[in-house]
Amino acid sequence: MREILHIQGGQCGNQIGAKFWEVVCAEHGIDPTGRYTGDSELQLERVNVYYNEASGGRYVPRAVLMDLEPGTMDSVRSGLYGQIFRPDNFVFGQSGAGNNWAKGHYTEGAELIDSVLDVVRKEAENCDCLQGFQVCHSLGGGTGSGMGTLLISKIREEYPDRMMMTFSVFPSPKVSDTVVEPYNATLSVHQLVENADECMVLDNEALYDICFRTLKLTTPSFGDLNHLISATMSGVTCCLRFPGQLNSDLRKLAVNLIPFPRLHFFMVGFAPLTSRGSQQYRALTVPELTQQMWDSKNMMCAADPRHGRYLTASAMFRGKMSTKEVDDQMMNVQNKNSSYFVEWIPNNVKSTVCDIPPTGLKMASTFIGNSTSIQEMFRRVSEQFTAMFRRKAFLHWYTGEGMDEMEFTEAESNMNDLVSEYQQYQDATADEDEYEDEQGEYEEEM
Ligand code: GDP
Repeated sequence: MREILHIQGGQCGNQIGAKFWEVVCAEHGIDPTGRYTGDSELQLERVNVYYNEASGGRYVPRAVLMDLEPGTMDSVRSGLYGQIFRPDNFVFGQSGAGNNWAKGHYTEGAELIDSVLDVVRKEAENCDCLQGFQVCHSLGGGTGSGMGTLLISKIREEYPDRMMMTFSVFPSPKVSDTVVEPYNATLSVHQLVENADECMVLDNEALYDICFRTLKLTTPSFGDLNHLISATMSGVTCCLRFPGQLNSDLRKLAVNLIPFPRLHFFMVGFAPLTSRGSQQYRALTVPELTQQMWDSKNMMCAADPRHGRYLTASAMFRGKMSTKEVDDQMMNVQNKNSSYFVEWIPNNVKSTVCDIPPTGLKMASTFIGNSTSIQEMFRRVSEQFTAMFRRKAFLHWYTGEGMDEMEFTEAESNMNDLVSEYQQYQDATADEDEYEDEQGEYEEEM
C-alpha cells in the first residue's frame, strides 16, 4: 500500500478540497456515510491510497482540514459529505489571517501549526508506506497561502523523503478584489519552488475565462470555478487511484515530468469542459478529446503553450476507448507540432487510458504539461508584485507581523529567476555548443 495524505487549508483550500472528496467518493462508489455502494472491483482495488478503512467497513478520507477561522470548515462539515471526515482531523483557530501571508506563516498560523502537525503525524503513523502528501490551498490569501506553505516546510523537515504535491490556486484580479494577493502569491511561490515536488497550477484567471468565454456563464461564482477544479483534480489523481502503469504514484509522476528540480509547476488541461449541472450532449471521439485537451482554451492556467515549448507532458484518457487510437492521435499532435516540444528530450509525451470515466461522462481526458510558457503566468503575478513593492505599498501589514523586507526582495528574485530558467530552456536547442554551455552552468551550480 502506498498511501497519500491529503491536507486542505484556508477558505479556498477547504472549498476545493471538499469538492475533490465529493467527486472522488462518487467515483469509488463511497456514499456520504463512508459505505461502499459501488459496482466494480476497480473502485476498491486502490482505495487505500486515499482512504483509511475504519471499523464496520467504512471508508474514511485520509484528510486533514485546517483553517484560522471556523466558518468554511463549518460549511464543509454540514455539506453533503461533511460527515465522512474524521472529526479529530478538523483543526481550526478563531483569529483569521485577514489575507495576510505573514499572519498565516509567522504569527497566527505558527501558533496553530503544532496541532495540525500532531494530526498529520497520527495519520502518517497509521500508514503502511506513505508515498507523500497533497495540499489544496490558494496562494492569494493568508491561511492556505502563508500557513499552507509553513506546513509544507515543516512536513519537508519531518518527512524529507516523501513526495509533496500541491493544488495551488493562483490569484487573479478578475475573480478577487484584494490588492495584496500578488504579495501573498509571490511569497508562496518562493516557498513552493524549494519545498514542493510537484505543483498543479490552478489559475483563477484561466478558470474565470473558461467559465465566461467557453461555458458562457456571465458571472462565474467560486462554485463554477471549483467545478472545473474538481474535474481537473479527479483527472490528475486518476492514475494514482485506479490500477494502471503510467504515473501510478507521486514519484513516477515527478520522474516523468520534471527534467530540472525547480521547474515543477504544471499546466493542467481538461476535456470536455462542462458547467455545473449540465449534461454532456454527446460523447466525444478520441480525436476531439485530444484536440481539445491540447488547446490553450482548455488549460487551467492563463498561459498559451504556443508561446513556449513543452519540456514534458502526460495525458490521461478515461473511458472505454482504443489504446491504439489514443496513441495514434497523440503521435499525430506531436508530429504536426514538433516545434512546440523540446527536441532534446525524446519521447517527452506519455499517455495512458483508464477504463473508468468520471461520473456523468462517457469519456474525458486530462493533460499535465510542463511548458515553458507557464512563465507568462509568473510574469503576470511578478508585474503586479513589483508595481506595489517599488513603492512599498501595504508593506506595513507584513512588517507589522515581524517580517523583514528582505524576504520580499528574495521572493521577488526567486520568482524572476524561475521565469528566466523557463526562458533559458525554451531557447535551448540540441546544438552541441549550447549543450556545453549548459554543462558549464550546471557545474558552476554544483
Ligand atoms: P485564506 O482562507 O486566508 O486561505 O484565503 P482564501 O482562500 O479566501 O484566499 C483568497 C484567494 O483565494 C483569492 O485569490 C480568491 O479569489 C481565492 N479563492 C477563495 N475561495 C475560492 C474558491 O472557492 N475557489 C477558487 N477557485 N478560488 C477561491
